[in-house]
Amino acid sequence: MSSCLFCRIVAGEIPSKRVYEDDELVAFEDINPQAPMHVLVVPRTHLATLNDLSGDHDPLVGSMVRRAAAIAADRGYAAGGFRTVFNCNADAGQTVFHVHLHVLGGRRLSWPPG
Ligand code: AMP
Ligand code: ZN
Repeated sequence: MSSCLFCRIVAGEIPSKRVYEDDELVAFEDINPQAPMHVLVVPRTHLATLNDLSGDHDPLVGSMVRRAAAIAADRGYAAGGFRTVFNCNADAGQTVFHVHLHVLGGRRLSWPPG
């Protein structure tokens, strides 16, 4: 999807601060961090929202969540805690329509979210 921002980041057409990549995932720093750690984990393949997932994507989603936990652990946030968020569509505030997992940590995060 040449018009998709995160497809273009995955392709290297738009710069990002990559923190991890493999055959199926790329992780990079959020450009507008909401916490000392704010990383986005995205699949290389284009999927617009969580509504587009099927059972075939279960291993991919598992890899995304486990990678989020590994990044948090690498940064020393495993024991203290961190948050993972998938926003889906307008009411959740999704602005980039390429599935991404937010990984936030390094400050006390309130609940419920806004
Ligand atoms: P969401 O609101 O869940 O769709 O999240 C989109 C996220 O993408 C926001 O946290 C933005 O700050 C982030 N973002 C937008 N453009 C870029 C970019 N060029 N590089 C890194 N993160 C971005
Ligand atoms: Zn995309």
